[in-house]
Amino acid sequence: MDRRQFLKVTACGAVASMMPISFSAWGQPTKQVNRSGRMTLRFFPYELQLRHAFNLAKYQRTTTPDVQVEIEYEGVVGYGEASMPPYLGESVDSVTSFLSRLDLSNFSSPFAFEEIHEYMDSLSDGDRAAKAAVDIALHDLTGKLMGQPWWKIWGLNKEITPCTSFTIGIDTAEVVRQKVKEASPYRVLKVKMGLDNDKETVEIIRSMTDVPICVDANQGWTSREQALEMCHWLAERNCLFVEQPLAIDRHDDTAWLRERSPLPLIADESLQRIGDVRRMAEAFDGINIKLMKSTGMHEAYKMAVLARALGMKVMLGCMTETSCAVSAAAQLSPLADYADLDGNLLITNDRFDGMKIIDGKITLNDLPGIGISPLK
Ligand code: MG
Repeated sequence: MDRRQFLKVTACGAVASMMPISFSAWGQPTKQVNRSGRMTLRFFPYELQLRHAFNLAKYQRTTTPDVQVEIEYEGVVGYGEASMPPYLGESVDSVTSFLSRLDLSNFSSPFAFEEIHEYMDSLSDGDRAAKAAVDIALHDLTGKLMGQPWWKIWGLNKEITPCTSFTIGIDTAEVVRQKVKEASPYRVLKVKMGLDNDKETVEIIRSMTDVPICVDANQGWTSREQALEMCHWLAERNCLFVEQPLAIDRHDDTAWLRERSPLPLIADESLQRIGDVRRMAEAFDGINIKLMKSTGMHEAYKMAVLARALGMKVMLGCMTETSCAVSAAAQLSPLADYADLDGNLLITNDRFDGMKIIDGKITLNDLPGIGISPLK
């Protein structure tokens, strides 16, 4: 959406909801404000610029639409974010529309996560990234009000976080080599697959490094037999697991593959929210939890606990996001077996300082809330 369209949409929204929109001296839209009760919700679109064009099995892109959110309560501000890669079906328009409809005046406190989520789910079945933005901001806010980071509030040990993988997308041999060089500080590489040159990409990586890889097929393998052959081939090349080998409607074929695969299978696109977790146990060894799918940290925590109770592996993933949402997900990382929290490293216009990757490992700080501070 360009600026002209945004002005139009926000102006229409303001008339419809009678909410104030402020404009700077240059006529640029500043933050749309939703004041309800003692909590003030502000939000504005923010397009993420990708360091490299992002190639997946089905499309390419150079930006990711995003909406930044702030919730203020008693002078304290919590930050949140909605990131909307196109395949999730949300957009700047849908997120700002959802946020404009929120009325938090019935909630006297930002600590009422359970009720606020019930309320948001009563407004719509989808809008998961929009709900996540509110949820993350509430967690940041309440953590600050308590003066504690969320990893500590949840009783987790920040020293036992996993290493994060660094993503190597589908690309030309030259770009793959460049990205492997960039990834030298990382102890795990994540390789996107699902095209004809899958093996070639792995051969290039293996010619440069022995570091373990994990593979994300993004539903790109077309038959269970092809997927099984790839799992065996990858198992001989120091691969840790395979994410979403088959399309989401191939649940039974994935169960067939799981019976035979030498590598664990992790569900990503097949899974959104907590209601999907038990079914995933039929066909996968683990789940990839992402805040933009789970509606945020509140449900993501429950999903991780449920998956572990079912004997499943837990992976934490992200979209291309600023350090806001990535640091929010990182609060859960002591519960995760695997992590793919590199979304902030893939953009050139981060707005926050937050969770760090040190020697390949997720490193949490002691800042309250989700552990971020705005960049000047
Ligand atoms: Mg994936």
